[in-house]
Amino acid sequence: MDAKVVFLSSIVAFAAAPSAVGQGVPPSGGVMVPPDSPLVPPDLSSGSELERYNDTYLDLHGGDLDEALVPFSLFPNGSEASLALASAFGLSIAVAAGGEGYTINAAHKIGVPGIIAEVSGNGLWGEESVGEMTAGVERVMKHLGMIPGPVTPAAQERPQVVRMWVPPAPVSGLWYPAQELSEPVAAGAQLGEIRDVFGKVLATIPSQMPGFILYRLTSLSVNKGEALLGVATPMVEK
Ligand SMILES: [Zn+2]
Repeated sequence: MDAKVVFLSSIVAFAAAPSAVGQGVPPSGGVMVPPDSPLVPPDLSSGSELERYNDTYLDLHGGDLDEALVPFSLFPNGSEASLALASAFGLSIAVAAGGEGYTINAAHKIGVPGIIAEVSGNGLWGEESVGEMTAGVERVMKHLGMIPGPVTPAAQERPQVVRMWVPPAPVSGLWYPAQELSEPVAAGAQLGEIRDVFGKVLATIPSQMPGFILYRLTSLSVNKGEALLGVATPMVEK
């Protein structure tokens, strides 16, 4: 199959189906696009490039520099094709993401299934985490029929599907988390506190949801409004 892959910073977008390839616009082979450049070739007016060139959208993230996480993917809630991608990618947890502002959500709206894959964190890029990412990309390529395989199988057939609750910092200060990654929390459990430089507690963060810690801000200082952590709550299987 004439598979086309476009790399944009940490974004991989696939055009695998004849419908997209048949338009004949993207050059064959990989195309390197500098960050901040649009995916649309320069001789075309802009438009919905995702719709025009791609059947599948993978947004590969390594966690933020000040973020530690359990590997997970995010998919637009209600998109079965995107959940199938998350299953194929093979990370053990899939977050059903709602709301606006996600590129995967914009892609979903125009009929392009997609996921964000989060692996590693704190700016680390060891062999293991990079390997986990590339193995996921290969499994998705096999899933789409772009490569024949064999590929390394995922550790599980389906990921655990969760919703995520993310409390923002109510004040600026120093962040002292109380829970480790993966640690289960009950609703009402203390997730951490924000103190001033003299140790005075400015805010405590009780969990609104039962679940477990999926990611966590690792920097000491935090600005008001920044995400402190994510609590994952397993969704009941239908
Ligand atoms: Zn991310």
